[in-house]
Amino acid sequence: MTKEKNEANLKNENTLIYFFRATVAMSKAQILIVGAGPVGQLAALLLARQGIASRLIDRRRHLPTAPKAHAVNPRTLEICESVGVSAEAIRAEGASANDAGWVRFMGTLAGPEFGALPYERQDEAALSDTPYPLTNIPQPKFEAALEKAINAEPLIELQRGVACIDTREEANGVMATLEETETGVRSESHYDYLIAADGAGSQIRERLGIAMEGPEALQHNIMIHFEADLTSLTDARPGVLYFVFDPSIQGVLIAYDRASTWVLMHPYDPGKETLEDYTDARCLALVTHAIGTSAPSIKICNKSNWVMSAQVAQTYRKGRIFLAGDAAHRFPPTGGLGLNTGAVDAQNLAWKLAAVLKGEAGDGLLESYETERRPVAIVNSEQSLTNAAKIFDLVAVIQGFEPDKAQAQYEALAANIGASETLACAVEAQRPHFDSFNLQLGYRYNSAAIKGAPVLQTGAETDISNYQPSWEAGAHVPHRWVTHAGNEKSLLALLPVHSFTLLAGPQAHGWCEAAHEKQLNIVKYGEDFTDTLSDWSDLTGLMPEGALLVRPDGHIAMRLARPSADHATELNAGLASLLSLA
Ligand SMILES: Cc1cc2nc3c(=O)[nH]c(=O)nc-3n(C[C@H](O)[C@H](O)[C@H](O)COP(=O)(O)OP(=O)(O)OC[C@H]3O[C@@H](n4cnc5c(N)ncnc54)[C@H](O)[C@@H]3O)c2cc1C
Repeated sequence: MTKEKNEANLKNENTLIYFFRATVAMSKAQILIVGAGPVGQLAALLLARQGIASRLIDRRRHLPTAPKAHAVNPRTLEICESVGVSAEAIRAEGASANDAGWVRFMGTLAGPEFGALPYERQDEAALSDTPYPLTNIPQPKFEAALEKAINAEPLIELQRGVACIDTREEANGVMATLEETETGVRSESHYDYLIAADGAGSQIRERLGIAMEGPEALQHNIMIHFEADLTSLTDARPGVLYFVFDPSIQGVLIAYDRASTWVLMHPYDPGKETLEDYTDARCLALVTHAIGTSAPSIKICNKSNWVMSAQVAQTYRKGRIFLAGDAAHRFPPTGGLGLNTGAVDAQNLAWKLAAVLKGEAGDGLLESYETERRPVAIVNSEQSLTNAAKIFDLVAVIQGFEPDKAQAQYEALAANIGASETLACAVEAQRPHFDSFNLQLGYRYNSAAIKGAPVLQTGAETDISNYQPSWEAGAHVPHRWVTHAGNEKSLLALLPVHSFTLLAGPQAHGWCEAAHEKQLNIVKYGEDFTDTLSDWSDLTGLMPEGALLVRPDGHIAMRLARPSADHATELNAGLASLLSLA
């Protein structure tokens, strides 16, 4: 080795040692979160609200600018609200329900409309089941709102431009090798646990050898992000998704903001083309073609390619490393469930990790993360795949099965849209795709961290639209408008994210005393809230002496149906068992 190389190596080593020391000295974080996408961001905020310090890193130096997700559903908004990120502020940044309330099946944007359906429950009626109906906001704006809260939170150490390049399980934690993306400087640091929220292409998952189950490459897409004011073309037909069926241009136009921000999703064959073949000029031509008329000004901002998969990781945990969000499951975007499923992963995992780190729960509690969340991901993945497949039924009706006759069939149908019953039926069959209220709110858990969850009949979840609030163990506490301290509030607002809550009947004095001794949050019917529409027993099916034990994630851990001979012993035994202390 030459003298120069030796000196350079020494300098690099010194820098490395310096960076390593600086990192160790700086970081009090118990948890490393890899990936500051929406799931990593929410995980960090949820842990902070539990008093747990985390280090949140992302290999990107800046927040992304290209929009992906747009639909942020009620449960995700509830989670945001629970960590102090205002759901109303998020809504104010997004498209209004009037603007984004429809899905349209078009020839081109300016061409014939083959049908339209409402997009999810964004109306007043949804307020009886959620305080925060679904809203449409471009993902970069959503992430910016979370980042603002993160920057104000001393328990989160956010570092952008830092990649995790390796992990090593140790006896009492995880050693992570990190690399500054700009300088290549490496360091090692130690954490109690690591959350891999590093997205669909998770390298952490790959290095751990965790396989994915389900189809990997259903369709390859080019995502063209462009800016254009298309309000004059769409004011009479506002919407958030415009499926384009003209046989010469396939794709979906996503209107994040009809006045400025759009994406064209266009399938391509990677065996014949690459992303590089999609020059700005070609993208402009594709966008213009999908619009179907010349728009005043179109600016191509960004293009990327991605693969549509319907996969769920075989396991969500390896030792002290947990997968969350797209790292654990990658769905077709047909259903708007990717980000939203990941947000609930973060919620489910954060309180469990916090309880174990605070010595309030045993390691067994962490097993319930996969037991509870993986089945939800499988249902959501299958539904997203079904939705994607159903769109092809519509293609068949509009274009037929023979490519050389597609244009003629399309034109014949376009000339007589109202007369086709087949078309009307095919449009109607798409409805569940755009109304998944029950998937968003109705999922239930059955694990060791729930006591007495009923075994659901097979197929109980198949009605994906019709949400039926449930007070059974394993269900999420339903939203109700209740009166609290003279004000109308959602019952959910009385359930703090950092504590178990005893939701007590008006005469549940014994359970309240026992919960008081355990320093649980207590919310008693008649004292802390009243419900003008229903009394306690009608609502919950419990006697006035009964109570519900609610977990920090809002799920009912156990129903304390009747008075006990020894409330404290029974409550403590139940808690110990579901926290894996027994
Ligand atoms: C067109 C489109 C539309 C969609 N619409 C919706 C929708 O309406 N609703 C919905 O719920 N979902 C939707 N989705 C899905 C949604 O975008 C994803 O599910 C969501 O981004 C997943 O969030 P995440 O935090 O798990 O991963 P990501 O958002 O992918 O974030 C992962 C982060 O990890 C970082 N990272 C990766 N590797 C490393 C490493 N080694 N070290 C450090 N950092 C690393 C990345 O830089 C990235 O910032 C859509 C997706 C697409 C493509």
